[in-house]
Amino acid sequence: MRRKLVVGNWKMHGSRPANADLLSALRGGRPYTATVAVCVPFVYLSETAATLAGSDIHWGAQDVSAHAQGAYTGEVSAAMLAEAGCRYALVGHSERRALHAESDMLVAQKAQAALACGVTPIVCVGETLAERESGLTEAVVKRQLSAVIHQLTHCAAEMVVAYEPVWAIGTGLTATPEQAQAVHAVLRAQLQAATGHGQTMTILYGGSVKPDNAATLFAQPDIDGGLIGGASLKASDFIAICRAAH
Ligand code: PEP
Repeated sequence: MRRKLVVGNWKMHGSRPANADLLSALRGGRPYTATVAVCVPFVYLSETAATLAGSDIHWGAQDVSAHAQGAYTGEVSAAMLAEAGCRYALVGHSERRALHAESDMLVAQKAQAALACGVTPIVCVGETLAERESGLTEAVVKRQLSAVIHQLTHCAAEMVVAYEPVWAIGTGLTATPEQAQAVHAVLRAQLQAATGHGQTMTILYGGSVKPDNAATLFAQPDIDGGLIGGASLKASDFIAICRAAH
């Protein structure tokens, strides 16, 4: 039985007062049956750690450098994230793939850098609307995941995968539970074939998950929880989504 996981992705949102309110509401909403985490902007990691310390809510970053250290101005290493107590780091979010031209190979290297420091990479994969309409969904997500599987080799079973159709992120459009389940089943079969541990690995769905659609999505056999963007910024919505995962 896989435990559900719900992860908030704050993107580039937040302020100290707003974060304090959000995090204390999230703490106050416990207990959750699911594992719960928030991926916050780097600059807020320390105060997130201070606010969540002693709770069973985890925190993480939204990106990580592929490099261990050195002259990489503006980047943050996995060792630094580990020092900040991060349990997770998102890698390959579609906004980074699209806006920062991150390749499958770079995403794979970032996942490897995270794992090497004990930070679990949440590897995001997903097709654009044009790719879906051309019948390329399966080929695209398998290609994106395959790059990471090959880079991680024997550690591949330690990653978390998030299926996030690009056309559903921040748009209000959600994949139907059946559409999402179909892709999750493909990804799980790929993970099982490559690692032998596909049945125990966590695969999240992301893309306009809200309190009113979360339970149906999370009830699908291969959907192990969610990666939540916009709705993770409103305490009552995020708490409702966390409670829908059990
Ligand atoms: C995301 O940012 O990963 C995401 C899924 O965003 P939203 O929930 O707003 O679609």
